[in-house]
Amino acid sequence: MNSVAHIEKVIRDFWTSAPSNSLHLETGEKAWAEPQVAVARGDDPLFYRIKELIGPFLWTPEEAYALAFPDSPVPARELRVISWLLPQTPETRADQRREKALPAGRWARSRFHGEEFNCELRLHLAETLTRARYPSVAPERLPGFAYQQSERFGLASNWSERHVAFVAGHGTFGLSDALITRWGKAVRFGSVVSRIDLPVTGRVYGDDHHAWCLWYARGTCGACAGRCPADAITTTTGHDKQACFTYIRETAAPYATATYGTGATPCGLCQVRIPCEDRVPAGLLS
Ligand code: SF4
Ligand code: SF4
Repeated sequence: MNSVAHIEKVIRDFWTSAPSNSLHLETGEKAWAEPQVAVARGDDPLFYRIKELIGPFLWTPEEAYALAFPDSPVPARELRVISWLLPQTPETRADQRREKALPAGRWARSRFHGEEFNCELRLHLAETLTRARYPSVAPERLPGFAYQQSERFGLASNWSERHVAFVAGHGTFGLSDALITRWGKAVRFGSVVSRIDLPVTGRVYGDDHHAWCLWYARGTCGACAGRCPADAITTTTGHDKQACFTYIRETAAPYATATYGTGATPCGLCQVRIPCEDRVPAGLLS
């Protein structure tokens, strides 16, 4: 079990067989394309720097682990953070590309049903590793997981799957705040903290958290801003989290519930019909 290949197999087997990996359509299609895995050290200095930036409420891997195993905390250097991404399928991206104001049906379904699968995957991996004598926790599934106000960044959760994915080497942030990965921006993330000795994934972009966005790297593009129906992205101020939150809560989510019978908070129009939809923009992948 203690190799990245084994971990990937556990994740991929679950992706293949779990009935919950479904858009709940008559076609029987899966919610997600094939998962991709990266691994970070539990004591990567970036975890501490990100905590300083976001706020003291953000858990480090060590803190999340100690919440799950209060009687046997371990030093951060003995932990690994296993981060995976679940790409939207080509069909979901194609549907979403046609939309201009509200999420497509497949997108709303992946956000709702697909995230239910992602939650099951978090627990499945944590339980599988723990049973194999590698105590593990999915921080996002802890009872204390919650959103709080960051002085600097507004509403923020105490475990950020996107920041974990950045530290693990999956990708860097774009103008819209979403993470641009080798499989693009139209992806969703999950993670597990484990007491296990795994080799970590290299971060080819170093600590440059904007390396793969054309706007930050070259001063070009800005396509995601043009996709937002709420004007919540601009090339001068970046992503306006409050405007985005308001549009999703008051417009996109009620529409998706009424139209597709889904819950959750879908929008994601800024994640498609852009140069970083399903790849790192040409010329930026170092
Ligand atoms: S669409 Fe362009 S500006 Fe927006 S995140 Fe992607 S590369 Fe950056
Ligand atoms: S998710 Fe937010 S930023 Fe992106 S298109 Fe929707 S409202 Fe705009």
